[in-house]
Amino acid sequence: MQIFTTIPGLRTFLADYRHDRSIALVPTMGALHKGHASLIRRAVAEAEITVVSIFVNPLQFAPTEDFSRYPRSLDSDRQLCAYLGVAAIFAPSAETLGIGDSEEITAVIPPISLTSGLCGAFRPGHFQGVATIVTRLFNIIAPTIAYFGEKDAQQLAIIRQLVRDLNLAIEIRACATVRETSGLAVSSRNQYLSTAEREKATIIVKSLQLALESFHLGERQREKLLAIVQKNLDRVPEFRCQYLDLVHPQSLQPIEQIETGGLLAIAGSIGQTRLIDNIILRQRRAVIAIDGPAGAGKSTVTRLVAEKLGLTYLDTGAMYRAVTWLVVNSGLDLSAEAAIAELLSLAKIAIIPADSPENVTIVKINGQDVTLEIRSPAITAQVSRIAAQKAVRQQLVTLQRQMGMSGGIVVEGRDIGTNVFPEAELKIFLTATPEERARRRLKDLEAQGNGGISLAELTQEIEKRDYLDSNRSLAPLRKAADAIKVNTDHLSITEVTEKIIALYRQGEENQWRSL
Ligand code: AMP
Repeated sequence: MQIFTTIPGLRTFLADYRHDRSIALVPTMGALHKGHASLIRRAVAEAEITVVSIFVNPLQFAPTEDFSRYPRSLDSDRQLCAYLGVAAIFAPSAETLGIGDSEEITAVIPPISLTSGLCGAFRPGHFQGVATIVTRLFNIIAPTIAYFGEKDAQQLAIIRQLVRDLNLAIEIRACATVRETSGLAVSSRNQYLSTAEREKATIIVKSLQLALESFHLGERQREKLLAIVQKNLDRVPEFRCQYLDLVHPQSLQPIEQIETGGLLAIAGSIGQTRLIDNIILRQRRAVIAIDGPAGAGKSTVTRLVAEKLGLTYLDTGAMYRAVTWLVVNSGLDLSAEAAIAELLSLAKIAIIPADSPENVTIVKINGQDVTLEIRSPAITAQVSRIAAQKAVRQQLVTLQRQMGMSGGIVVEGRDIGTNVFPEAELKIFLTATPEERARRRLKDLEAQGNGGISLAELTQEIEKRDYLDSNRSLAPLRKAADAIKVNTDHLSITEVTEKIIALYRQGEENQWRSL
């Protein structure tokens, strides 16, 4: 692992990777703890190169706040990052980031509607300071993906908006709040708390938990949910509540009633320590992501799981076929990537998932039903060329995410759990040894009257394909850190399907994202 304190050093290091590797950024203020570690672990698992920035940003502290006493622990931070597989730490000084003594700097001002409520109401200038420095870090590092914690939900919403508004080609990924066993959200500021205060501080999460239970019992009204939380908070007078609010998770505007989702957020102090916490109240059906090497039985299992659970099978292959059809019919050269990106951006692709396993996904392009045509041999022969184009992939991933927004889908691929739906409730990594996959393939070939290849040759072919799939620059095959590995070597298709269904039921019982 390398440590950089200067921009040229870091940029030169990253230049070697930039053209064909994904770069993850985890911005932090150091004093790394379990919460940061979960962001870093995900970054390391999901991207090829991970940079952790450590900078205690003076712009986001008011003069009355704890900037000078904010914990700093570069040595242990360095050890943790090295242990977690971080490629580089960026620990610049304020001067390096150009905010030394001068107040004459270009600031990034997020929309007032996002900064005026919640913490913004009590920390004037805070989010402007965050946005200014995060924009600088984004421009210096130009990451492919950046990771932020849901614990700072207002910050997350502001950064998402910033990336959209400034057209930054960076994907923002949110990570669930990591908690102590007591439920207390892990925070660098927790070390200011005495043992007794730490115990008292758990009232915050306990109150959120009560609201969550009530939400799951059907409560959707602001007044009722806030009253439940307030009543419970009142039990610990040492907690001086600054705000308690129910807002829309993206617009951050107060809501009277939860329709799709609500962010229930609390801030306050115990002793001298300011604490924040929140929970998203959202009822959505799960997304099941099934990844794994070729020949592990993914597509059969995925269809069966969808059928048995009454979920939708999202046929991503049909989308790539649709684009291939569009390109072939437009007369464009298949290698004209920029023109294809433009064509696809202007096209309307409608994917209507099959309502039963016997039916196929209906695909319409610009209103024309192309369901059958996309399955023709001419299209089949060209799909992989189109699917290898970055811009096509990006646009289709966006479409897939839109389709999965309210959940209830099962999707299979190579990078569904790591890239397309990194927030999927259930991630399965379906695999089998190369020998077993070779045996299955041989059986299929023989059944089709196409024997004549040895088991050893097939095994070798499969190993080669695994290597290529794991090392391709676009959408490499990788197991998500939180994916459950299912080895299908000695399992029948029915057994594998049942296993996944059991895992799904288990998650459902735990309500996936309970606190
Ligand atoms: P900070 O160092 O406090 O600026 O935090 C750096 C990143 O870690 C931010 O994106 C935070 O939201 C995230 N983070 C801090 N605490 C936690 C936690 N307990 N769980 C998950 N993410 C966290």
